[in-house]
Amino acid sequence: MKIQNYIKGEFVNPIAATWLDNYNPSNGEIYGQIPNSQQADVELAYQAAQSAFPSWSNTSLATRSKILAKIAALIKDKIQLLAEAESKDNGKPVSLAKEVDIPRAAANFQFFANAITQFGSEAHESVGLNAVNFTLRHPIGVVGCISPWNLPLYLFSWKIAPAIAAGNCIVAKPSEVTPMTAYLLGEICTEAGLPKGVLNIVHGLGSTTGQAIVSHPNIKAISFTGGTETGAHIASVAAPMFKKLSLELGGKNPNLIFADCDYETMLATTVRSSFANQGQICLCGSRIFVEETIYEKFKKDFVQKVRQLQVGHPSDAATQVGALVSKAHLEKVKSYITIAEEEGAKVLYGGLEVTVPGYENGYYLQPTVIEVQDNLCRINQEEVFGPVVTIMPFKTDAEALALANEVKYGLSATVWTNNLNRTMQFSKQLQTGIVWVNTWMLRDLRTPFGGQKASGVGREGGFEALRFFTEPKNICIKY
Ligand code: NAD
Repeated sequence: MKIQNYIKGEFVNPIAATWLDNYNPSNGEIYGQIPNSQQADVELAYQAAQSAFPSWSNTSLATRSKILAKIAALIKDKIQLLAEAESKDNGKPVSLAKEVDIPRAAANFQFFANAITQFGSEAHESVGLNAVNFTLRHPIGVVGCISPWNLPLYLFSWKIAPAIAAGNCIVAKPSEVTPMTAYLLGEICTEAGLPKGVLNIVHGLGSTTGQAIVSHPNIKAISFTGGTETGAHIASVAAPMFKKLSLELGGKNPNLIFADCDYETMLATTVRSSFANQGQICLCGSRIFVEETIYEKFKKDFVQKVRQLQVGHPSDAATQVGALVSKAHLEKVKSYITIAEEEGAKVLYGGLEVTVPGYENGYYLQPTVIEVQDNLCRINQEEVFGPVVTIMPFKTDAEALALANEVKYGLSATVWTNNLNRTMQFSKQLQTGIVWVNTWMLRDLRTPFGGQKASGVGREGGFEALRFFTEPKNICIKY
């Protein structure tokens, strides 16, 4: 099938008619094509967004809210179609897409349908000066939203929903690796009555389509989720043009396990936080540090549980670990296992490709557990973003904290303990944007979401996202 760009509410071919192949990771076959949109296509999308802006930015909050809620409802109605499309594009189990990705995409639209009706601005009375200040928050104009392949519709909608709720018009680009549900979202938006041009979706490579969005002189803000290197490049283009930037980047998240935790809950959750979505979630805990007194027990129990994980075709209901997203990514993940071994680490389980009968050319890899001696080895310092975790013991709280922070990234951390003092100390001192204690990936959409250090700049979620997508203007009135 040929995917088309969604511009001004219509599906259109790219102007220069250049196309890219789209692969199904579960069998390695090409199953469609997407446009590799060029600057002229992005310009067309920009013009559509710009012409929709005056009307959309003046549309009442009640109407915007109603349309967003309708999009949410339609996503829910089409859950099976969207889950299957997501799985075919990405390799993730259909069951996971049905339980997590698609419901969450609907929740993003529903959340911002509600949030925009509760979003206020500030007022300050300048006591003694006979003046009052109030702040207007206006939409920015045309904004760019660029998202990655790991949670395609979920992360795409996490940007689009607040941007349009706040009254902006969008030129958006999903990952070229997973374009399908973004394409389907175009149909849904039309059906929901979103006015033409409010959301425009252009497909293509980062270096062509993405670059054209980021460097467009009149696209005034960029909301980006993806790799740290790409984020740095985008910042280098957008910052001198004084664009507003939100960057959600890579991670190398620590999972700190103390002997006093609720062991069984920790164990089951740690299997999930290591291998959910084939370990391709920016929040996965890829560095597991375990208190020495329970290290040997944890090692044995964890490996035993990981061994039981069912690797298989994404549409098989029994599958817990599906295919990796692409051949290139599979090769990258495998190369890190080799690097770890060369650096003296020990593979406790996994490390090998899996042949799924009938799908021999799919990109399947065993969930992999590696024991490391040193936190400074490459596998503990560089983002692998696959079904690979490392484990390492620690003796004291101070050592655990130092190990957790000894990395350039700072997205999230998980702490397993029942000690309140330790919980508070770690919550304060971990250099991450998110800390989970005795849980993982429990999400409340009102909370600020994002990372410190090389994991990003700015926060998404709740009113933070609505603040990002609006320009504050202070008015001072003297009386
Ligand atoms: P990527 O950086 O390769 O690509 C992300 C998006 O940016 C894609 O749409 C891509 O086409 C586009 N892009 C690439 N080069 C560009 C350029 N020069 N200009 C504009 N756009 C460009 O990342 P990926 O491989 O798709 O995704 C995996 C990465 O995303 C991992 O590092 C992961 O940690 C990160 N991620 C972060 C979060 C978070 O919330 N912090 C969430 C999910 C994924």
